[in-house]
Amino acid sequence: MALSPEESFKRVVSHAKEYGFVFQSSEIYDGLAAVYDYGQNGVLLKNNIKNFWWRAMVQLNDNVVGLDSAIFMHPTVWKASGHVDAFNDPLIDNKDSKKRYRADVLLEEHAEKLRQKAEKEIEKAAIRFGDSFDADLYRTTNPRVVGYLESADLVMARYVAAMEAEDLDAVRQIILDEKITCPVSGSSQWTEVRQFNLMFATKMGSVAEGASDLYLRPETAQGIFVNFLNVYKTGRMKIPFGIAQIGKAFRNEIVARQFIFRMREFEQMEMQFFVKPGSEMEWYEHWKQARLRWHLALGFNASHYRYHDHDKLAHYANAAADIEFEFPFGFKEIEGIHSRTDFDLSRHSEFSGKKQQVFDPETNENFTPYVVETSIGLDRMFLSVLSQSLEEEALADGSSRTVLRLPHALAPTQAAILPLMKKDGLPELAQSIHGDLKFDFQVAFDEKDAIGKRYRRQDAIGTPLCITIDHQSLEDGTVTIRDRDSMEQKRVHRDELHLIIREIASMESLLRKV
Ligand code: ATP
Repeated sequence: MALSPEESFKRVVSHAKEYGFVFQSSEIYDGLAAVYDYGQNGVLLKNNIKNFWWRAMVQLNDNVVGLDSAIFMHPTVWKASGHVDAFNDPLIDNKDSKKRYRADVLLEEHAEKLRQKAEKEIEKAAIRFGDSFDADLYRTTNPRVVGYLESADLVMARYVAAMEAEDLDAVRQIILDEKITCPVSGSSQWTEVRQFNLMFATKMGSVAEGASDLYLRPETAQGIFVNFLNVYKTGRMKIPFGIAQIGKAFRNEIVARQFIFRMREFEQMEMQFFVKPGSEMEWYEHWKQARLRWHLALGFNASHYRYHDHDKLAHYANAAADIEFEFPFGFKEIEGIHSRTDFDLSRHSEFSGKKQQVFDPETNENFTPYVVETSIGLDRMFLSVLSQSLEEEALADGSSRTVLRLPHALAPTQAAILPLMKKDGLPELAQSIHGDLKFDFQVAFDEKDAIGKRYRRQDAIGTPLCITIDHQSLEDGTVTIRDRDSMEQKRVHRDELHLIIREIASMESLLRKV
């Protein structure tokens, strides 16, 4: 029987814990809200995702280079970037449940519900009218459908207008007008809307001697901007070029209830691509497509991804879109692609007094490059991969198995070496095969329990291949390999193992699909 979205999300969370992927931070002290640790399998999967991104960005694009900047930055960086003044979320509390929400999220979810109602009407009509049904026509002419869609658009248009006018009362009024209630208490007793800055502050140096206030960076991008000229000059770069970086970011999120989807400490993979003003839309389109291709290379169904063009642009952007992924709790942002104009570099020029410009030999003039950014959350990516891969498969004999159908190259271990028995020299032979493979692949060795149980254990952590060593292996050097997905087994010679694993589970084979 199909699980409800809540049940399937719960399964993902408990599977992540049971198999050493993700643990609550400081769990023995009852945990720390919205902070998580990655376990023995989680860290391997996470590193593989990082590696897939890094190599797709830095290795496959000869005009993109890497960077690793510090988490602490000069406090003026965050004034220049606008984060001190404008990195806020509008929050609202429900007086009955005492639960806190992001006002923008309440409105977006409400608009999405209206759109879903319209889709349901269209689906019903399609069944009623059969083959002659014209969905596009119905969408634009049926009064009820048109009503839902118009209401959804109106909610978002009112929200955008209210935020642009910095009118938080107006934001609250939309929530009241739309009769949006608290999902917990069901009541519409709302407080007023307030702005809440998401940056964590800390101090550097001894407090007594006039320590300076610092922030934990809320995004990695600013580390790239302030190093733009360093990389440009020392790397002898030419516009257009990009700088990519992976690193921790910190946000004091108002609502943090969706496991590793929204964390207070998380990791970002960001790339800032510096272009000539006027060419930014071309590059924006280029990266929008390129980034979706990267996602699709993983082989999950394309219907799980969609673009969402922003209704309300951030103060620095002239175009922005999200790539959304269908999580168990619905379509949500996994990555943002933003055309940021010259906002950041100009602001850093202004605040530092040092021009962030390059020379254009064609026009003999200096100019400030425009920037197209791609920004993806590593943890969200991890969650998308985990939730898409987890499956409870019904087997022909009436039993079932839990299998994590991870894209092969991302699996924590590419292969497990399993001696059929713990005697007759089988473990020794298995060890020698393990010793051969471990220099090239992450391979596991498991000799505990019956072989069926060991296969199930490897299925549950997504190991693409199990290599079993039996008595015949002692005689002729052959082993059986079992495929995680089909569970089919075949005999191959141990000398072929390198090639076989490389073909199905190497990062190179995945990168070729990007
Ligand atoms: P949201 O609207 O969900 O808060 P955002 O628009 O603030 O996200 P960006 O500032 O564009 O996010 O950050 C880029 C990426 O970083 C996001 O697409 C997301 O994958 C990731 N990200 C942002 N905030 C978090 C968080 N609190 N926890 C985990 N990942 C995050």
